Amino acid sequence: MQKNVNNIDMQRRDFIGITALGVLAACIPGGKKSTSATKKTQDLSNVKIIHEFPELPFAYNALEPYIDAKTVELHYDKHHRGYFKKFTSAIEGTELEQIPMSEIFAKISSYSDPIRNYGGGYYNHILYWENLNPDGGKPSGRLLTKIIRHFDSFDNFKKTFSDEAKTLFGSGWVWLIITPDNKLKIVSTPNQDNPLMNIAEYRGIPLLTIDIWEHSYYLKYKNKRSGYIDNFWNIVNWKKVNERLLNALKA
Ligand code: MN
Repeated sequence: MQKNVNNIDMQRRDFIGITALGVLAACIPGGKKSTSATKKTQDLSNVKIIHEFPELPFAYNALEPYIDAKTVELHYDKHHRGYFKKFTSAIEGTELEQIPMSEIFAKISSYSDPIRNYGGGYYNHILYWENLNPDGGKPSGRLLTKIIRHFDSFDNFKKTFSDEAKTLFGSGWVWLIITPDNKLKIVSTPNQDNPLMNIAEYRGIPLLTIDIWEHSYYLKYKNKRSGYIDNFWNIVNWKKVNERLLNALKA
C-alpha cells in the first residue's frame, strides 16, 4: 500500500478522513473493519513511510500574547519533535510504518508503551497546533447548533470545558469529541492518551483539544494554569473545529 504524502496539506486532509473512518469502524458494533492493520508488507524498502513531522501552521510568535513565542518554539521543536522521533524509532522496520495513526490507536492495547506514549504525543500535538490560530473565527453552522443542543449555550460549553481542564490532575489532555452516536462530549485523557485509543474511557473523534502538560504554559503562566486555559479561548481555530465536525459527520 504505497502512499504519496509529499504534500503536507494532502496528508492532513487524509489524516482527518482516515481518523473518522477508523474510529467509527472501531466504535460501531458490526461496523466495517479495516484489514490494512493486519496486512503484511513483503518489501518494506520499497514502501514510503506515511508518518511525517508536519510544519507548524503558524509562526512561533503568532499566538502572542496568549501563548508566548518561546513556549511555542520549545513545545513544537523539542517536545513534539521528540515524541515523533521516539515514535518512529519505536516502530522502525515494522508494518506500523505504513498504518494510519487512527488504526494504530484502535488497537493500541496490543502495542508497547513507547508506541502508546510517543504515538499519542506525536498525534495529539498535530491536533493541538491545528486547532489553534489567532484568527480562527467563531463556531458556526452545525457545530454551534450542536454545542447549544448539548451544552445549552456556547458560554456554558466553554465553562464546562475549562472546568475539566482546570481540575485535571497531573499531565494530560482535555477534548471535545463526537461520539459514535453523534453526541458532543467533553472528556479528558491522562499522559499522551487520546479518545481514539481502544483503552480510552470515552471514545470518539476529536474536534477540539487543549494540552494540559505544564510545558504548554509554565514559562509564561508558572503555576497559574487557569490563566492559560482562560486565554485559550482567544486563539481557538474554529474553522478547523467546524471542518473536523463536518468530516466526522460525513464518515
Ligand atoms: Mn505538549
